[in-house]
Amino acid sequence: MSASNCIFCKIVAGAIPSRKVYEDEEIFAFHDIHPWAPVHFLLIPKLHLASMAQVAPEHQALLGRMLALAPRLALQEGCNPYPEGGFRILCNTGAEGGQEVQHLHFHVMGGPRPWLRA
Ligand code: AMP
Ligand code: ZN
Repeated sequence: MSASNCIFCKIVAGAIPSRKVYEDEEIFAFHDIHPWAPVHFLLIPKLHLASMAQVAPEHQALLGRMLALAPRLALQEGCNPYPEGGFRILCNTGAEGGQEVQHLHFHVMGGPRPWLRA
C-alpha cells in the first residue's frame, strides 16, 4: 500500500511531519512546504500511486472523492468564494509534466493575487 522510500507515504504514516489539512481512511491533505499562493495544499490518496499515469478503473471512485473534496477544503483553508475568489487544481505528471514527487498529488491553490507563480 505504501512505498518505503516515498516522502508522501512517510507523511501519511506520520514519519515526516506535515501541517495537516484533512484526513480520512483513503485521503490525506497537507500544506505545501513551498507555497506558490496564499493557500497551497496537496491532496493525496493514502494508497501509493506514483502518478496519474498509474490510475486504473478501480481508482475512479477514489479520484472522484478527492476532486469532490477539494472545493470544501479550499474554502476551509481560506480561498475566497467563487466566482470572485476560486482556486486552482493542478496535477503534474511525469518528468515532462513537471512532477517532482512520485506519489500522485493534486495541488490546490488560491487566495488573493499576485502569486509567486502565475
Ligand atoms: P510536484 O512538482 O507536482 O511533484 O510537486 C511536489 C510538491 O511537493 C512541491 O510543491 C513541494 O514544495 C512539495 N513538497 C515536497 N516535500 C514536501 C514536504 N515534506 N511537505 C510538504 N510539501 C512538500
Ligand atoms: Zn507514496
